Amino acid sequence: MSNRFIGARQTTIARDIEVHGTGVHSGAPVSVILHPAAADTGLRFIVTKRGRITAEIPAKVCNVKNLTLCTVIGNDEGVTVSTVEHLLAALRGLHIDNCVIEIDSKEVPIMDGSSKPFVDAIDEVGVRELAAPRRFLKVLKTVRVEEGDCWGELGPHSSGLHLDVEIDFPSPIIGRQRMAFEMSPGVFRNEVAHARTFGFMSDVERLWKAGLALGANLTNTVAIGDDRIMNREGLRDPQEFVRHKMLDAVGDLGLAGHPIIGAYRSLRGGHRLNSLVLQKLLEDTTAWAIVQAPRVREPRTLPFEPAVVAAAGE
Ligand SMILES: [Zn+2]
Repeated sequence: MSNRFIGARQTTIARDIEVHGTGVHSGAPVSVILHPAAADTGLRFIVTKRGRITAEIPAKVCNVKNLTLCTVIGNDEGVTVSTVEHLLAALRGLHIDNCVIEIDSKEVPIMDGSSKPFVDAIDEVGVRELAAPRRFLKVLKTVRVEEGDCWGELGPHSSGLHLDVEIDFPSPIIGRQRMAFEMSPGVFRNEVAHARTFGFMSDVERLWKAGLALGANLTNTVAIGDDRIMNREGLRDPQEFVRHKMLDAVGDLGLAGHPIIGAYRSLRGGHRLNSLVLQKLLEDTTAWAIVQAPRVREPRTLPFEPAVVAAAGE
């Protein structure tokens, strides 16, 4: 797939994609089928049990139920899907607007702890452009959330999504790392998608006792000991930690319901902070607007100036 899909039209995947893996918290096997979807479907989960649909859950921040260890979305009947962030990051990162995600479990498989297996699977089938113009959530005003020494803010930006993520861990293995990008499918694929999730060995026992992280192991998590990385292969790149936080931010901000035109910056952030910033933005209906690219006869008529088509209020 090329980068030409950074464009004025909505997209979906070209064919069904089936992915098999393990849930990092349940340790149970999971199958996910990504289906192409019509314009304005957005990204949505369909949960099945023995072949029957039990719930349909749009991947939107209003459906977030829990953010303690991973992002959990759910409906009012108590059906939930956990660990949605790395799959949503792959879809948003590759600028896929519409996809129905069929899942037969309560948790998206962890794969190798990054978005790369999902990106590779999507790249294998390719992306299809639809006739409908792409709709964006354009940030008009800066909103900021501070919690202790962590903060995140989302403000206006000329086009696309600019991410500036800084982490600061007391562990000398991680320390302070900062990275900033204008996100595009190429940047996501090359700079972000491969970065794996990470955790401290000191936390693992506590999580296991709580019945969590049962599927976490060195094939899907970078494990940090007191003074070294426990994985024999080491890091995929020296800034893998901050790149993964960037990946998480793409997934969490992907819950906006539309691609964002804005600049996001965070210090010592994570899923919780990312979602709180997005929630705060959406609550202030003067802080954003839905805009769309003008209808175009031929694809690849970039660059365009999005026109405001609707005030906030979705
Ligand atoms: Zn993550």
